[in-house]
Amino acid sequence: MKLGLAGTAALITGCTNEEGSEGNAPASTTTATEPVDGPVVLSTWVHGLPANEKALNVLNTGGTVLDAVEQGVAVVESDFTNRSVGLGGYPDRDGIVTLDACIQDHGGRAGAVAFLQQFEHPISIARAIMERTPHLMLVGSGAERWALEQGFERRTVEIPEVRKAWQEWLKEGVYKPVANIENHDTIGMVARDAKGMMAGSCTTSGMAWKIHGRVGDSPIIGAGLFVDGEVGAACATGVGEYVIRAAGSHAVVELMRHGRSPEEACREAVARILRRSPELNETQVGFLALRRDGAHGAWSIHPGFNYALTSQGSTRLVDAGYEKPWE
Ligand code: ASP
Repeated sequence: MKLGLAGTAALITGCTNEEGSEGNAPASTTTATEPVDGPVVLSTWVHGLPANEKALNVLNTGGTVLDAVEQGVAVVESDFTNRSVGLGGYPDRDGIVTLDACIQDHGGRAGAVAFLQQFEHPISIARAIMERTPHLMLVGSGAERWALEQGFERRTVEIPEVRKAWQEWLKEGVYKPVANIENHDTIGMVARDAKGMMAGSCTTSGMAWKIHGRVGDSPIIGAGLFVDGEVGAACATGVGEYVIRAAGSHAVVELMRHGRSPEEACREAVARILRRSPELNETQVGFLALRRDGAHGAWSIHPGFNYALTSQGSTRLVDAGYEKPWE
């Protein structure tokens, strides 16, 4: 089994590994297996860079870590040029954009919303469900009605480019994931503040061209996100069906609880998924993990998964290690 390069860092200005291709030694800033002081924020993919900057700003200006993970990912929800998060995302096969999100705090309280249409900030609705209802998850028209009652406003966005892409897809209408270009890329964020309090968030428009009504891992606590302030936090990206089957983010946190480093925990979760589903040679799944002491790590099936890391005051993009057992 060939192993990929673990945690090579790139500067904030670029999304590629500074050292170039697979197989190079890690650059100076690696995925940290050591404890780190101060706030640490991790989030998936290149769109995590502005999200992390926002989260850090919230922490530096007196906000809680829960505020930070909510407001951080909200930046990406409001970026209507993003095709995998928020209302700018690609639609399902009926041409309808449906959104999933969840949030969890240090003590494990959580809120989630799924199959939501026409709201700009599903993450804030998820948080409101956590804080204002006896429930954890609301979906579909019930979630929309409740959100309206709570003062959230409907928002619709018409993006001709998205409509055109959907019409193009309809010509063949074939749903075929290809690693890293499946037209997904959730933002999942995990964070710890300077006092050691943790939280996480996850928000997505899900897989492009999905069947209307499909919900992925992203709003599922334990799958797309899991936070346990005693141990750490993890989040996932990639084809959600595989992440749900493995209770992926929960598995990562439990592996850390039993002594695995964050990177080892992510790697074991990826390996479990591959053992069950060896056909994943065209499909990406990746995990991020943050231990309560600030150590962090990531791992994915294929090369190409990167994440934004904010630690000791600076933010940069890091390439995750990967398994890629087919070569
Ligand atoms: N996990 C998301 C989903 O399955 C998509 C992604 O993260 O890329 O909906």
